[in-house]
This record gives sequence, C-alpha cells and structure tokens, in this order.
Amino acid sequence: MTLMDQPIRSAQLTTRNPIDGEAVATYPVAGPPEVAAAIARARSGADWWRDLGFGARRAHLLAWKSAIALRADELADVISAETGKPHGDAVLEVMLTLGHLDWAAKNAEHVLRRRKVKSGLVNYNQHATVGYEPYGVVGVIGPWNYPFYTPMGSISYALAAGNAVVFKPSELTPGAAVWIAERWDEAVGHDVLIAVTGDRETGAALVAADIDKIAFTGSTATAKKVMAAAAERLVPIVAECGGKDAVLVAADADLDAAADFVVFGGMGNAGQTCAGVERVYAVDSIKDALVAKVVERAQRLRTGGDDAQYGPMTLPAQADVVRAHVDDALRTGTAALGGPESIQGRTIAPIVITDVDESSDAVQHETFGPLVVINPVASLDEAVARANATSYGLTAAIFTRDTRAADRAAGRLRTGVVSINSVLGFAGVAALPFGGVKDSGFGRIHGADGLREFCTVKSIARQTRKPMLNLLTMDRTEKDMHTAAKMIPMLHGRSKPQR
Ligand code: NAD
Repeated sequence: MTLMDQPIRSAQLTTRNPIDGEAVATYPVAGPPEVAAAIARARSGADWWRDLGFGARRAHLLAWKSAIALRADELADVISAETGKPHGDAVLEVMLTLGHLDWAAKNAEHVLRRRKVKSGLVNYNQHATVGYEPYGVVGVIGPWNYPFYTPMGSISYALAAGNAVVFKPSELTPGAAVWIAERWDEAVGHDVLIAVTGDRETGAALVAADIDKIAFTGSTATAKKVMAAAAERLVPIVAECGGKDAVLVAADADLDAAADFVVFGGMGNAGQTCAGVERVYAVDSIKDALVAKVVERAQRLRTGGDDAQYGPMTLPAQADVVRAHVDDALRTGTAALGGPESIQGRTIAPIVITDVDESSDAVQHETFGPLVVINPVASLDEAVARANATSYGLTAAIFTRDTRAADRAAGRLRTGVVSINSVLGFAGVAALPFGGVKDSGFGRIHGADGLREFCTVKSIARQTRKPMLNLLTMDRTEKDMHTAAKMIPMLHGRSKPQR
C-alpha cells in the first residue's frame, strides 16, 4: 500500500490562546495521503524554482519578504495569539526573521554559484569546479516557541538555495505557517512553499514520505525519532534541538550589563528559548553582587495583564517540568527569588536559585521556563568546565573585559555559538551560522553554511588537454610508471618529523 492509498483522516486541530484558553482557529490534521499530495505538488514547484536561477529567485524571495513586511503587524497578532507572547515580542521576532530572509535572498548566488578550485600540479590539465545544487523538496518541521523565526531559519535558506519546501509547523502554532504560505502564494505561487498542518503523526508522515531532506527543530528526543525514521531511506537531516545554555561571568565583568542580559535571556519569552539562559557561572568574588542585580531586575518584571513582559507557558505541560526542576534545585540550592509558589497555573513569575548541586535536573536538563540557576566558580576556566558538563551544546555567553580571556574561553566551550558581553547577540547577524553540538543537534542554519546545508555538492573536473604523464589509461607505459614512482617522494616526502 502506498502512502496515497491510505485512508484520509478527517481530524482537525483547534489552537487556543494560552492566556485565556479561547479558541483561535481550526486547522486540518494532514495524514499521509495529504502529506504525499503536498510533496508531489512541491516537486513540480521545485523544478520551476530551480530552473529560475539565482537572480529570479532573489527577486521572488524579496517580493515575498515585502508581502510579509507590509502586513507584519497582522503576523505578529497571529504569533501572539497562538503562543501567548506579548505583541512586541512577536514584532521583534518578525523583524529578526525578515533580516535573515533578506540575507539569504541576497547572498545565495555569491555563496552557492559554481566556483573554480585549484587542480594542482599533477592535474594541471583538469579544470576543476564545485557547484551547490538544491536537494529538491525539503521537509521543515518546526517548534512552537518562535513559530516564525525558528522554522524560517531553515525555510528561507532552503528556498534561497533553490529548493521547494513543505513545512509542518507545531500543532500549537499552525497559524503562522498558514499565514506565510498564503503570502507566498500571493507573491510567488507555483507550489514552491506549502504548509501542511497537523500533529506529530503528520510530522512522522513527512519524514516517511518521498522527501529529499528534513530540517527538524524541536526537542532532542523527537530529533532521535526523526533521524531513525529518515535513516530508513538515508534521507539527510539537520537537527536543531534543545539547550542548557550557560552564561559565564568573570570577576572583571560589567555586572550591570551581565545582569541585564541574564534577565533578558533567562526570563524573556518566559524562558521558552532554545538558546535562552538557564545557568550562570559567576566567579566567587562577584557572585553575590551579580545575584543581587539579577534579582533586582527580575522582580520588577510584569508577568500578567496587558503590559506583561512575557506570557504564560505555551505548552501547558511545561509548567510541570519547571516545577519539578525548581523542587529538585531547592533540595540543594537557595531561592534568591521566587520558588514553587511562583508557578500559578501556566503563568510563572521569575525564579532565581543559587548554589545548586551540579547533578540537579535544573542544571543538567532543559527547563524551558523562567528559572535561572546561578552557581559560584573559582575561575573562568572552571566556568568553562562546568558549562561543558551537560549533554547539550547549543550556545554560551561570556562576560569579561579581558578580550584574550574571552577568546580563550570561547575556544574551549563545546557549543555551536558563543556570545561575548551579550546574550543572543548573534540572533540578528544573518551571516553567522547557528546550530549546536552533542544533544543540541548538528548541521547549521543561517549564514553561508546555512545555505550550503540545503545543497548537494557537485564537483566537475573538465579535462582541457591531454596530460604529459598519462596515468589514467590501461596503456600506460613502464616509463610513465617509472616517472610517477620518482615523483612520489618529490611531491609528498619532504616533511621532517617535528620534535
Ligand atoms: P517537539 O520535539 O515536541 O516537536 C517539534 C516538532 O516535531 C513539532 O512540529 C511536532 O509536531 C513534531 N513531531 C513530534 N513527533 C514527531 C515525529 N515522531 N516525527 C516527526 N515530527 C514529529 O518540540 P517542541 O516542544 O515543539 O519545541 C520545543 C523544543 O524545541 C525545545 O527543546 C527547544 O529547545 C527546541 N528548539 C530548538 C531550536 C534550535 O534552533 N536549536 C529552536 C527552537 C526550539
């Protein structure tokens, strides 16, 4: 039985505003046949899109960008209604995302056009070039916490590289996906970007279908399932997963700036940020001062009402994870701000806990809520060692005025991204690739690497003339082989042992 033959499910999903539980909208839950049909449409779109070439694609992508920008406020409304985040945060998300789309559209040709590479002395008769070609149809599976910014890190770059995209958003945030696909249809069309709404089974159907690459963003546990399923057809994936990101604060750091960023990175979006601040390692001599500054700022945050600075937990069950981590942290640590009582249903006031045992869940596992753990360390070196001692490796931040110490620490942090004297400062720099190591995933979105992530590499060697020494023939002579044997030590035997 093919995917197309399977029975059509007529299920629907209704999204609800996390703030008041009101229904926002209803969307179909696509099953395997609908997913297969979307991929089939995208495949014909992919041919048209690939054949346009870089220049025409750039113009279409920028037209799509304008279509989104001219109605940015409307998109922010959709994001805000589904996630519960303040409208201003959603506007910022739209702005950051369009910056990436702009960069991808304008840089794809420069990064991906066929280029000449050196063919070397022996192969002087080969004109060697490398080209980056689209995979075809890329399946993008997204999370709910930044329903526009996060999947667009894959969608913008995959499209700019010449692929068609079938996008399966989170079941909590299908509205933003449908909205951007509608803007695509108005501005460009041709079935190059298609949104399929649904649940995790819809995602599984996308991975199992006739897709050429999967760009997955979500939890590490789901990434493992996606990777296992994709392995059945040897479909490559890029996996952008969770984090347990640390801020390292040296004795000479600007503590006000560090505290500002810890509160922004730890509490912003209610802590529901893959690269948010979950741990802080502060050098002993300044730790208490830093805690005081963080607490002073965090306790001023408004978490309810029309002027709330962050919303509730978008995923209801996440409040239970936060509660479990707070309880575990308080077995060894000290509450500097808030505690279990800060968790009121899905709304969680800022929580800061200090001196927590390093084996605690709140130190080792992703909390994804407004909880920050601040632990003392003897030195920046120890901070690096502690930061590296979890299974995750997405981003980290270092605060110090000593540029050399910062660079040294940055080099030793096992993460995909490091910020120095800021948190999340990289997020708007489109030229910087983003992604993690270890349980935080692999592959890159954003920047030149993000464009290449969505390409297959094709090497072409064009013979321009017959070589003087022709070894690629069954008729090679003994004289040719004698010459080749003499060349080996000349070409490759000149390096001395280094003692
Ligand atoms: P999740 O893993 O529960 O779901 C992610 C997506 O996968 C959803 O669209 C879901 O429907 C789909 N899915 C679930 N099971 C599937 C399956 N078996 N096959 C295919 N698709 C399946 O994650 P979430 O709760 O939506 O997102 C939160 C997580 O995402 C956090 O861990 C966060 O750190 C991570 N995240 C990472 C980044 C990054 O860029 N590294 C960005 C944002 C969020």
